Amino acid sequence: MLRGQTAIITGAGSGLGAALATRFANEGANVALLDIDGKRAQEIAGRLPSHQTLALQADVREPDDLQAAVAATIETFGKLDTVIPNAGIWDYNRSVTRHSGAELAQVFDEVFAINVKGYLLTVEATWRELVKTRGSIIMTLSNAAFYAAGGGPIYTASKFADRGLMLQFAYELAPKVRVNAVAVGGMRTDLRGPAALGLETRSFQQTLDRRPARSNPYIPLHDISTEPETFTGPYVMLASSREAGNITGAIINADGGIAARGFQNSAGGDEL
Ligand code: NAD
Repeated sequence: MLRGQTAIITGAGSGLGAALATRFANEGANVALLDIDGKRAQEIAGRLPSHQTLALQADVREPDDLQAAVAATIETFGKLDTVIPNAGIWDYNRSVTRHSGAELAQVFDEVFAINVKGYLLTVEATWRELVKTRGSIIMTLSNAAFYAAGGGPIYTASKFADRGLMLQFAYELAPKVRVNAVAVGGMRTDLRGPAALGLETRSFQQTLDRRPARSNPYIPLHDISTEPETFTGPYVMLASSREAGNITGAIINADGGIAARGFQNSAGGDEL
């Protein structure tokens, strides 16, 4: 569906970004895989056809890294159609009640620098090329962009901030660039935490593995340990101007139906 397109994906060395790079390449797109860990980006690119991929080391907090990555992408593939701001870290549910103000200040700066400033700078570095192709931006949000308890206050605030960026960019870049988002739910990935709390090597999949149950009755579709590949479909649809040419400023919630939870103790029923 995306033959001839070129996409930039941040955080493409792991998890959802890697799954998106693979899916977009399989759909026929050329993909620039950006990651702070250039080796991991290279590893993922190495599993895909070499003429369709470009692995680039880039820290999304650094405007110069992003500008260089965009220049390399244009030099290699000639144009840019889709940008997916996706690189992020989690706060491991650290509550305001658990930390001092000094600790929270450090965690805030680290999480917001990657999750929010990173998205802002990724858009800044790419919008001019997207105007030329009438392309689109698709941001990775989270259930934490809508509801409490998808993280602690800092992660939740960062994903609400990303939701604000998405709407503002949809307004500012219309009518030439569409800007949308996918709010994904829990996924089995290597999602890390802030170095300020010593959580930079903690991996979310280890957290999932420690939980006894693989299903959560409070989520209508029950699954809390989904592989990232299963979230890639909405991105493909939004990237296609044929399928989504009149969609901007929209969010697809791919979170197992949290909004349909209602006030029962659990959703659905065994008798169905
Ligand atoms: P992941 O850790 O597997 O992948 C994130 C990638 O981002 C890593 O390769 C990492 O090296 C890279 N990265 C981190 N900081 C960077 C920086 N400064 N510059 C460039 N790259 C950087 O995690 P994931 O779960 O695939 O996360 C992808 C997105 O999904 C994030 O925005 C996250 O908030 C969101 N999300 C994840 C879950 C989940 O349950 N895993 C749920 C909701 C939303």
